[in-house]
Amino acid sequence: MSAPTDSSSGGESTASTATGEVALVTGGGSGIGWACARTLLETGATVVIAGRDPDRLRAGATALAAAVPEARDRIVTQVCDVTSEQSVIDTCDHTGSLGRFTMLVVNAGFGSAGPLEATALAEWDAVIATNLTGAFLTVRSAIPHLAATAGTRSGGSAIVAISSIASTHTHRYMTPYAVSKAGLDMLIRQTADEMGPVGIRANSVRPGLVPTDATTLLMSVPHVHEDYLSQMPTGRVGSPEEVASLVAFLAGPQSAWITGACIAVDGGHHLRRGPDLSSIMPSFGTPLIR
Ligand code: NDP
Repeated sequence: MSAPTDSSSGGESTASTATGEVALVTGGGSGIGWACARTLLETGATVVIAGRDPDRLRAGATALAAAVPEARDRIVTQVCDVTSEQSVIDTCDHTGSLGRFTMLVVNAGFGSAGPLEATALAEWDAVIATNLTGAFLTVRSAIPHLAATAGTRSGGSAIVAISSIASTHTHRYMTPYAVSKAGLDMLIRQTADEMGPVGIRANSVRPGLVPTDATTLLMSVPHVHEDYLSQMPTGRVGSPEEVASLVAFLAGPQSAWITGACIAVDGGHHLRRGPDLSSIMPSFGTPLIR
C-alpha cells in the first residue's frame, strides 16, 4: 500500500495556529460570539469583537483577557452597528489594518416572537436589517480584505455565519427570524460559490437552543423549555463553546475543502420539529399589547 499523500494546496501544514492572523467577530461581546472570540484567541489570532454597546464590548474584552491571559494584547474592541453600511466598512477596514484579516464570523443577530398577523413592519424590518442585510454588508465589506490574504494560508480565508435551526425548520411565531436565517444560509452559499475561485470559503452553522442573553426569556417558560428538550435526542441544550468549536474548525485550515456547507450543531434537534411556542402566544385575531 502506498503512503498517504498530502493533497492540501502546496502541502502546507494544517496545524491550528493563527499567529499573525486577524479575525472579526460581529456581536463578539456576548454569548455565542464571545465564545467564538475566545476559541479563535486560543489559536493565536488577534480578534476584533464588534457590537453597538461599548460597555458590553468592554466587559466582553475583560472576560476574554481573564479566560485567555496570554491573548491579552490580541483583543480589540470596535463599536459597530451592522445595520449601518459605513460602520461596517470602517470596522472591516480597521480589522484589515491590524494584520492578515483571514477570518470573519458573522454572528450579530437577534430574534423576536409574535403571531404573524400581528407582526409590525418595524419588527420585520429590524430583524431583517440586522440578521440578513447586516450579514450582507459584513460579508461584502470583508471580501476585499479576505481575498487579499487568502493566498497566505492553507485553505484560504474563511467566513462562518451563525445561522439557526430556524433556517430549515418552521418556528411558528418567529417568522421574521426564521426568514432572516434562511436568507443568511443562501447568502453564505452564494458567497461560497462566487468567492471560491479567489480563495474565500464560506459556511454557516445552525445552532439549536443555547443559553445566552438572547434566550433567557424563552428558557424561563417551563413549557417552552421542556418542549425544546423533547425535540433534542441528546436531551439537553448546547453551550456557546460547543458552537464555537465548530466555528473555529470551519474558520481554520483543517476545513480547507469545506465550503458552502450549513451545518447543524443542535443536539440533533434538526431530526425532529421546531419549537412549540403556542402556549405563550395569544390566539389568532387577539389584539396584541406591545
Ligand atoms: P446575544 O444577545 O448574546 O448576542 C448577540 C450579539 O449581537 C450581541 O453581542 C449584540 O451586541 C450583537 N448585535 C445585535 N445587533 C447588532 C447590530 N445591529 N450591530 C452589531 N452587533 C449587534 O445572543 P446569542 O449569542 O444567542 O446570539 C448570537 C447569534 O446566534 C445570533 O445571530 C443568533 O440569532 C444566533 N443563534 C442563537 C441561538 C441561541 O439559542 N442562543 C440559536 C441559534 C442561533 P450589541 O447589543 O452590543 O450590539
